[in-house]
Amino acid sequence: MLKHNTCHLAAVLVLVTGLASADTYTPEALSSGRADPSLHLQQGSTQTEAQRINEVSYMATGFGNSFMVVTGAGNVVIDTSLRSMARHHRQLLGAVDDGPIHSIILTHGHGDHTGGVDLWKQPDTRVIGQRNMVEFLHYQQRLEGIFNQRNRAQFGFALDAGQSQAATVQNFAAPMLPDTLFDDHMAFTLGDVEFELIHTPSETDDALTVWLPQYKTAFVGDLYYAAFPNIYTLRGTKPRWALDYVASIDRVLALEPEILLPGHGAPIRGKEAIRSALTHYRDAIQYVHDQTVIGMNQGKDVYTLMREIKLPESLQMSEAYGRIAWSVRGIYEGYMGWFDGNPVNMYDLPPEGIYPDLVALAGGSQAVIGQARVALEQNDEVKALRLLDAALSAAPDDREALNLKLQILVQLRRQSSNLNESGWLNYGINSTRQQLGD
Ligand SMILES: [Zn+2]
Repeated sequence: MLKHNTCHLAAVLVLVTGLASADTYTPEALSSGRADPSLHLQQGSTQTEAQRINEVSYMATGFGNSFMVVTGAGNVVIDTSLRSMARHHRQLLGAVDDGPIHSIILTHGHGDHTGGVDLWKQPDTRVIGQRNMVEFLHYQQRLEGIFNQRNRAQFGFALDAGQSQAATVQNFAAPMLPDTLFDDHMAFTLGDVEFELIHTPSETDDALTVWLPQYKTAFVGDLYYAAFPNIYTLRGTKPRWALDYVASIDRVLALEPEILLPGHGAPIRGKEAIRSALTHYRDAIQYVHDQTVIGMNQGKDVYTLMREIKLPESLQMSEAYGRIAWSVRGIYEGYMGWFDGNPVNMYDLPPEGIYPDLVALAGGSQAVIGQARVALEQNDEVKALRLLDAALSAAPDDREALNLKLQILVQLRRQSSNLNESGWLNYGINSTRQQLGD
């Protein structure tokens, strides 16, 4: 079981509060593969000086990066990181120039970008977002109870996130961060610096890109990662439209940027390097989307497509963050919802509902645990886990089953180089240890 002293717990709560519905990891963390997801939230905490990007732009690195554009008529902040990192970012960027904050632009409404708005905001500061941010903030607030549980699990915080006992829901109660909204495009000039804001829906439908045409610099938020994106995130989300990513990347490509600043990870410099990275990224997403749609129209089921669809050699990319199979399922179910055409699935008894019957027919949970060992010997960890789920449905406290389950989860964790998978395996490991009383 995870144990926290008061101090550590307080720190965890600060992180969770700031996290809201973030679901991102930095590429530096991605390349380190096996690191613990919760460590990535500390990214950038040792930075002592803001990074200069061009004549007017500066960056503070974090789990979510913050940027500041300095002009003679006031400064513009682009994203404000996690709440737990925002004060540090404000110090770093404030040391570059402490002029008034004219505007804060939020590339989208995730908590790792909005955490420091109140730290930066002055009486005359305007906060700009794309119009869909209004409903997006309500959506996150509406589901705050379950998002807190899921984020704590995925990011490795305390196990027993309290479920909300609320018997009512406040559907439209989120504090409204932006006071200035636009639909598709917005432009303004501040001092000598021209700003263009462009709606680039992708990971969220309120996503925007900030473009400085004089400096050929694009701040793209979470439109781009140095790994395949989370077209579906395991913590749970409404559908993310693959074709939105494709269209939004095309919009950024058409600008021909020479500096690309993602919300997570390092800047990319050079027109060709950016064109090449964005094109590859876009084509990989489009390939996965199109193959999924082709398979759906051929009548293939979602599990078959999860197994079958792989990126071709020319489009290979890291799956340390998003995973192709989860994206296939996200696209499939995003389009079609949950019903798969099997009549029994119209009703409220899941397949697990008959596990105890099957275990009894097999002669008890011992026989099923034995079969799980056979599966494990054949290197089929997932089949073994399913068999153990069945055994545990009949005998929830069976220590042999729990120990074998723990062993398999630890083994999968050791093999995993995907951070989201690692986070959920950690959660399973800790939950199983808790059941064992360790
Ligand atoms: Zn983010």
